[in-house]
Amino acid sequence: MINHEFLYPGIIPQPVDHVLYAYITAANGVFIHAKRKNLEVMLPVFARKRNVIRGLAPMQPFIKLPDLVPAQYLQSIIRKSQRMLPNEALFYLSYETAWKAVMPNQRVTQTSVTPSDPFDDFSSRALIELHSHNTMPARFSSIDDGDETGFKLYAVIGNITGSKIELCVRVGIYGHFCEVPAKLVFQSMIEVCDVGRY
Ligand SMILES: [Zn+2]
Repeated sequence: MINHEFLYPGIIPQPVDHVLYAYITAANGVFIHAKRKNLEVMLPVFARKRNVIRGLAPMQPFIKLPDLVPAQYLQSIIRKSQRMLPNEALFYLSYETAWKAVMPNQRVTQTSVTPSDPFDDFSSRALIELHSHNTMPARFSSIDDGDETGFKLYAVIGNITGSKIELCVRVGIYGHFCEVPAKLVFQSMIEVCDVGRY
């Protein structure tokens, strides 16, 4: 079920615990609000700074996570991805009382990676799904768009043998995508460069 709301001044958006997500029309655009355990997001579907809608309040987008992913996790994911070369690699990161990273059983080629069982427990618990584009750029491909249809954070790393490893992060809400700064999700690392378009 999907809710639609207008953000009148003084109104707080309704909770989204019992709906898939809500579209919120605010002064500065239309936003999508979704929540699952340990992840809540408010992200623009269309947003603008000028020509705002009169009579409505502005919305401030946000991502709420219990903690950033520690740098050593990303470091270990990069090392494992390097060992998987020339193929791609897939990782799930979930959070209970701390972050946990797993590499699910997967089918890999140089240009694709798919989990052997996309509906297993690891996949449904994952808040972040990260895959490697090996030595290629870290850009979400149209194949990624087709694969990443859940409500999760999705990340891709690329140029993993270069001096600047590329990282790109987006929130996916059932087919809506919004690239976000990597620093909102991962602790920063000197050798990793955020190449997201946000
Ligand atoms: Zn990809």
